[in-house]
Amino acid sequence: MAEAQEQKSSPSPLEIIIIGAGLSGLSAAVSCALAGHNVLVLEGARELAEIGAGLQITPNASKIFQHFDIYDALASKAAEPSFLQVRRYSDGKILSRTDDFNGDMRQKYGAPFWDLHRVDVQRTLAERAKELGAKLRLGARVADLDFRKPSVKLETGEELHADLVVAADGLWSKCRERFLATKGTADHPLPTGDLAYRIVLKLDEVDDPELRDWISKPSCQFWIGPGSHVVAYSLRDGQMFNMVLLVPDDLPGDVARQPGSLDEMRALFATWDPVLNRFLDQVKSVDKWKLMHRPELDHWISDKSTFCFLGDSCHPMLPYLAQGANSSIEDGAVLGNVLGALQSKNQLPEALRLYECLRKKRGEAIVRETFAQRRDFHLHDGPEQQKRDELMLSRLGREIDCKFPSRWQCPEVQPWLYGYDAFEETASALRDSPLRTGATASL
Ligand SMILES: Cc1cc2nc3c(=O)[nH]c(=O)nc-3n(C[C@H](O)[C@H](O)[C@H](O)COP(=O)(O)OP(=O)(O)OC[C@H]3O[C@@H](n4cnc5c(N)ncnc54)[C@H](O)[C@@H]3O)c2cc1C
Repeated sequence: MAEAQEQKSSPSPLEIIIIGAGLSGLSAAVSCALAGHNVLVLEGARELAEIGAGLQITPNASKIFQHFDIYDALASKAAEPSFLQVRRYSDGKILSRTDDFNGDMRQKYGAPFWDLHRVDVQRTLAERAKELGAKLRLGARVADLDFRKPSVKLETGEELHADLVVAADGLWSKCRERFLATKGTADHPLPTGDLAYRIVLKLDEVDDPELRDWISKPSCQFWIGPGSHVVAYSLRDGQMFNMVLLVPDDLPGDVARQPGSLDEMRALFATWDPVLNRFLDQVKSVDKWKLMHRPELDHWISDKSTFCFLGDSCHPMLPYLAQGANSSIEDGAVLGNVLGALQSKNQLPEALRLYECLRKKRGEAIVRETFAQRRDFHLHDGPEQQKRDELMLSRLGREIDCKFPSRWQCPEVQPWLYGYDAFEETASALRDSPLRTGATASL
């Protein structure tokens, strides 16, 4: 297991404002506070509420939790899947299965694959950030930014100054809008063409003994079908079950989220595996979320190096590899680690360039991989789907030793996703090219 990081005292502490207390912002808050900087997180919402249900936390992020010293606090809330399985949509036929999935993950990557409730992760990160001295202001919505000073203006008119402003304000980022405006451009969240029905079932509300067995014995289950797929896994040590149904988007263009109709949802899956339908019969309410992405940005840092992006504000993706939050947590960890090497404020531009260099390429590569996963999971019945299924079936009960349609198990993709060590990556980059002591303040 990786060692918990000791809090440093920086020779040149920065005043850092982080906009957004989602997982990217809070990861950056913990990491920057560990590096000895003074952190203020501004969050528009009035509370850290139970939005968004389950999260798959893969070893690249659970390793960071070890460094952040929140591993034990989260372990008791996690469910660790003992196997991962991919089924054909219509009859539930098993196309692929990795037994002892949790053991395999720990053995390969030195950290677990966990299924957690998003709010458990968010609150644990927030508590740790506060314990390290970071300040968190809820109900503080940022209305504008000045990238030169830098400063931020709240909706109340209050203006706050810092050495560094970090945009962690998610897909609908106000910071991104303002940043692009300084360059005379604009972009908007784009529909991916898919939407998600998000469902959480509680064990004590389910009577069916077979379904109770699925919920209380954690696993990670996929059903893949034409233009759609379903992922389901247990949370909170098998007391809850999280299901996400990914289907073609039929929401109006201007609607990002709305309550879904149970009849409509069940009709979409009426011809799918009966056991899946028994789960859907248990659902009492459901929300539909439009899945959006955005074009790649030219830069994740400002010209004067007083501002940077992280998380969904700069690399929103399809949730098909469960990497949106994991890669956002990586962003935060790397940012703090790079800033931990500062000897003087003059080195900030160089440090931020290193952050961008370490993170942008990877974040954007993961985005592209999520679209590739959609292509392989959503094939319509026909020759391509048959070829895919034959390949998957040919490795059932055997080692997967080739490029594999399920990237969750693929020996080419899984290692670069889950094997990434944010701490080692930063340490090695800083060993190869330490921040120069005579660095100048502007680019
Ligand atoms: C269906 C679905 C399933 C998913 N499953 C997974 C998964 O299993 N694993 C995974 O890793 N990822 C998953 N994701 C992706 C993941 O949820 C996101 O990528 C991740 O939460 C992004 O974190 P963030 O902090 O960048 O943004 P957000 O979580 O959006 O946080 C942004 C924060 O900024 C605040 N904010 C916004 N504007 C302002 C402002 N002007 N002033 C102050 N505060 C502001 C918001 O209130 C919010 O708290 C899933 C996504 C979806 C849609």
